[in-house]
Amino acid sequence: MFQTNAYIDGQWRETGKRFAVVNPATHDVLAEVADCGAVEAEAAIAAAHAALPAWAGKTAHQRGALLRRWFELMADARERLALAMTREGGKPLSEARAEAAYGADFVDWYAEEAKRAYGRSIPANAASRRYVSIKQPIGVAAAITPWNFPMAMITRKAAPALAAGCSFVVKPPSQTPLTALILAELAQEAGIPPGVFNVVTGSDSAAIGQVLCESDLVRKFSFTGSTAVGKKLGAACVASNVKRLSLELGGNAPLIVFADADLDVAVRGAIASKFRNAGQTCVCANRLLVQEEIYDAFAETFTAAVKALKVGNGEENGVEIGPLIDRKAVQKVAELVDDAIAHGAKAAYGGAPHPAGANFFTPTVLTDVTPAMRVNREEIFGPVAPLIRFKTEDEAIAIANDTPFGLASYLFTSDIARAWRVSERLEAGMVSINEGVYSNAFIPFGGVKQSGLGREGGAEGLEEYLETKFLNFGGVS
Ligand code: NAP
Repeated sequence: MFQTNAYIDGQWRETGKRFAVVNPATHDVLAEVADCGAVEAEAAIAAAHAALPAWAGKTAHQRGALLRRWFELMADARERLALAMTREGGKPLSEARAEAAYGADFVDWYAEEAKRAYGRSIPANAASRRYVSIKQPIGVAAAITPWNFPMAMITRKAAPALAAGCSFVVKPPSQTPLTALILAELAQEAGIPPGVFNVVTGSDSAAIGQVLCESDLVRKFSFTGSTAVGKKLGAACVASNVKRLSLELGGNAPLIVFADADLDVAVRGAIASKFRNAGQTCVCANRLLVQEEIYDAFAETFTAAVKALKVGNGEENGVEIGPLIDRKAVQKVAELVDDAIAHGAKAAYGGAPHPAGANFFTPTVLTDVTPAMRVNREEIFGPVAPLIRFKTEDEAIAIANDTPFGLASYLFTSDIARAWRVSERLEAGMVSINEGVYSNAFIPFGGVKQSGLGREGGAEGLEEYLETKFLNFGGVS
């Protein structure tokens, strides 16, 4: 079912060393994948550099046609991609199918958007001059992606890069490389030329990362993952050769429920936002701030909905909460819950690992959480919903903004003036009003503060792979 060699310069590459990819629900070894290091990373960059002139020289229409073919093959392979994501990453099959569609959408959308890489005509300040700016591909682009969206975090970078005329090297996470290799198979079948899209699989991410960040041939680096690793890689990119940089990092999303909200809409939104991928998304509601007048009613309805969530292997019918990615993740979640309870929070439901297996944690509701607790201050990355009580709009905004992160935020209210006012004051790259899930290929996705740099998706996502060049035509008479 799986391709297990790296994909470099249009070839499937062995390395003599392999690492195991394990199903987090069953602990079965799914495949032994080629374990690349610095040598293979250099080879992929060289291939991307060699492929660049011909790829950048194609018209946007020609590149768009190849991307469109890649998209169609992804659409045909949707079930295979979804199963790979469930098996290597653990997310329920229904969510994996949704990611297969979401991930492919980036390729579809940028196949068209490539044709709209417009420059500008600028009024000159002298009669004899004409000013224009043009857009050009930055060059070789490299990326490192996380395991929580094994497909979409790759296509969200590769599609705009290829559309812009850049060639591309990705190092997928060692926990979920199989989906990336299916994407490579489909790119090959679509006729994307050798060297334009390369996948360097490997367990020594630091060694591969160092080559990608420091190579003079790589002109753009894009990273999605934790803030700690992103800061380190970003510093290396700038210090080595001032690369263009995109960073999509961690979050600590507040979800604010005002007393004037529709309670059912708020509960539905909170469940969708909090528990997608067992709470392992960067835009997951990390903490739920609920106004005191409806705190008890919200806690009761929300807890009933959490109790009804079905936990198990994502391949089983109807499962809504799969395993966490590994044992370390379970330990971190348990630690945060224990800390909250030790400081006065109560587990209205859950609060401990789940009997489904070593990597499972019971969906949990914590009440009486205070802003000082770790569960409010750190990214939980697990199925735990801390409920914090607030009195006023100002207090909610102060709690929400009291974090170094600023990726997603959510608010539930039926007062449109409040929705505008609070949206403008929240320090976040994205605000969703009265809805818990919103990601798609067409919006500018990204964060402020330590949640990152740049935007992915939409017209902004293409800009991240383009340089603006200014041309002055003098002596025009
Ligand atoms: P992570 O540990 O930072 O890993 C992300 C990627 O970086 C993986 O491919 C990993 O490879 C690689 N990596 C780890 N250490 C490295 C190093 N020293 N040098 C080079 N590469 C290195 O993060 P994670 O735990 O997988 O992902 C969860 C984090 O990603 C969360 O904080 C989440 O919020 C964030 N995230 C953000 C967004 C967004 O758009 N803002 C989207 C999704 C996730 P190996 O796994 O092979 O070591």
